[in-house]
Amino acid sequence: MPDRRVRGIAGLRVGDASAGVALTCRVSERRIRECHGRRSLAARRVRAAVVSAEVVGRLAGLVALGLLALLVLANGIAMPSGAILNFLHMIDLVFHEAGHVIFGVVGLGSQFIAVLGGSLNQVLVPAVCTAVFLRRKQYGSAAVTLFWVGQNLADVAVYVTDGRAMRVPLLADGLIHDWNFILGRLGLLSRAEALGRFTFGLGALAMIAALALLGWDAWTRVLSSEPRSSE
Ligand SMILES: [Zn+2]
Repeated sequence: MPDRRVRGIAGLRVGDASAGVALTCRVSERRIRECHGRRSLAARRVRAAVVSAEVVGRLAGLVALGLLALLVLANGIAMPSGAILNFLHMIDLVFHEAGHVIFGVVGLGSQFIAVLGGSLNQVLVPAVCTAVFLRRKQYGSAAVTLFWVGQNLADVAVYVTDGRAMRVPLLADGLIHDWNFILGRLGLLSRAEALGRFTFGLGALAMIAALALLGWDAWTRVLSSEPRSSE
C-alpha cells in the first residue's frame, strides 16, 4: 500500500513544497523563540530568587554585626563582659596562644617575637582571610572577617592598655604579661594607655568599615537584580 505522506508530498509542485517547508520552519522558529522565552523567564526568576536570598542574608548579617559592634564599643577598653563577648574572647584566645607557639618557631627562638606573636596572630589570621576574600571578590565573606579583625584589635587593646597597670588576670601564675614585656622592651610603657586607645580606635574603624562593606555588597546585589532597559 503506497505511503500517503509520500504521495501527498510527491503531489505538490516545487513552489508549494517550498512554501510548505518555509511555513514549517517559521512555525518551528516561533516555537524555539517561545521555548527560549520561557527558559529565559524561568532563569530570570531563579536568578531573582537567588539574589533575594543573598540580599536577605547580608541584611541579617548587617543587623547581627551591627549589634555586635555596639556591644564591643559599649564594653570599651575593659575585660569582656557578658556571654557573647566572653565567647568571642575565648575564640580569640585560641589564636592568641597558637601565635605564641607559631611565632616562637618562626622567630627562631626570639623571646620578643614569640611574645608579640600572640597578639599578632589573633589579628593576622582574620586579616589574611579578608585579603583572600577581597582578592576573590567575595565581599560578604570579606566583611565578616574584617569585622573579626576589628573585634580582635579591640580585644588586644585591653591587653595593651594594661601594659603598665598589669591588672588583667593571666591564664596562670608566673606567665609573662605580653604587653608589659613588649612595651618595656620598646621603652613605651609610659604610653601603654594611649597605645591601647589607639589600638581600640583601629578596631572600631575596622568594624565600621566591615559594616559599610557588607551594606555596599547587599546594595550592589539589589541593583544587579533590577531589570535593565536593554533586556
Ligand atoms: Zn599572650
